[in-house]
Amino acid sequence: MPNPTPTPWYRQTHWRILAALVVGLVYGVVAALAGWSRFTADWITPFGTIFLRLLLLIAVPLVLGSLVTGIASLADLRKLSRIGGQTITVYIATTFVALVIGLVLVNVIQPGASIPESLRISLQETYETDVASRQETAGEVAERSPLQPLVDMVPDNVLGAATNNRGMLSVVFVAFLFGVALLRLPRDQARPLLDLFASLNATIIKIVEMVLVVAPAGVFALIAGTITAVSGDDPTDVAQLIGALGLYCLTVLCGLLLHAGITYPVLLRLFTPIGPVTFFRGVVQAQLVAFSTSSSAATLPVTMRAAQRNLGVSEEVASFVLPLGATINMDGTAVYMAVAAVFIAQTLGIPLDFAAQATIVFTALLASIGTAAVPSAGIVMLVIVLEAIGVPSRGIALILGVDRLLDMCRTATNVTGDAAVAAAISSGESRAMTGRPAAGIAGPGASA
Ligand code: ASP
Repeated sequence: MPNPTPTPWYRQTHWRILAALVVGLVYGVVAALAGWSRFTADWITPFGTIFLRLLLLIAVPLVLGSLVTGIASLADLRKLSRIGGQTITVYIATTFVALVIGLVLVNVIQPGASIPESLRISLQETYETDVASRQETAGEVAERSPLQPLVDMVPDNVLGAATNNRGMLSVVFVAFLFGVALLRLPRDQARPLLDLFASLNATIIKIVEMVLVVAPAGVFALIAGTITAVSGDDPTDVAQLIGALGLYCLTVLCGLLLHAGITYPVLLRLFTPIGPVTFFRGVVQAQLVAFSTSSSAATLPVTMRAAQRNLGVSEEVASFVLPLGATINMDGTAVYMAVAAVFIAQTLGIPLDFAAQATIVFTALLASIGTAAVPSAGIVMLVIVLEAIGVPSRGIALILGVDRLLDMCRTATNVTGDAAVAAAISSGESRAMTGRPAAGIAGPGASA
């Protein structure tokens, strides 16, 4: 429904967040140049951490509440398997396209071919200790039985499952169990618990609104803190690093832009009446929060709000598709994994034949599904992809220095993909119900 009194642009939350982001960037650079990194870490970063925590704090109850009510609100199990099947198929298809884009770009641009030997050695020395801890984490994951991820998905304690943002898949599993059970119970028996979850949802949405009031301050602090933490008191180090790894970063960014700028608009064109401008205006706020927090889970509340308000995604679909997407659909991470794996192989002079590249597609597809929706999770899973193609995983040392920047960008792509798929599924459902695509797509200015 069109917004009767559009909010002036300068009061719209996404503009305020964007302004905070720019101010945070400028402050971060000035602080690094002026040697204020200690002051920033002591007095500014904590506010960013508090903002991030506020968002993560509501991620588990939101996934639980919205998935349970989302599933239970579907008319029957047939509808659940239809929407569930469509959602998972489209999620896998878009991730596959993302991987192909990443692979084609990295093979054409060959960013690893021009890295000098001296830089390779110095990068490996600098990040040796970081690499060891990430290899250890990934090694633990890789050494387990192939079915271990499936076992991990089933928690032995509901409350335990709810205590770990990295274990969101088990929260999704618990939500599925509850949702399906409630769907199969007689309505009068299901009602009290359904009301409880519905009320939990409404409460979370209110909390999101409250948290978003302080989003500009939170975003400023997060960005300022990240820049000073990455560059310490000498931003020229970072500038040099970005200069050396510039082509690699550009390849990842190109892949993300192509995927977001072509794949999603094509998806929307095929299944929805939403044009690219309306879509990107609708999701910009979620993209900015994703960029600042580097966490799809922390951004989930904002993505859900944007999809429903600005893209006309039905509550039924949003509450099912988006929590699932935040947990398993990581297209940006997939682009990054494809580029990073081949880049490292190129730098180390290891040729990758077609079979190795096909292995990257397969393992990165699974690894992106298994990537936790929190900062830096992607690089841990990258180790598994590298092991699968026989490239030494300590090669991640080469890219660790610029990982945070790329994490911000890939997370923004991840949430964009979730929103695009939600819009596509919602329109498809609405067409199936009424013969018309989803109504209620908000016009410009509705994204305040
Ligand atoms: N930070 C990303 C996310 O939350 C995951 C990654 O590290 O790629 O979506």
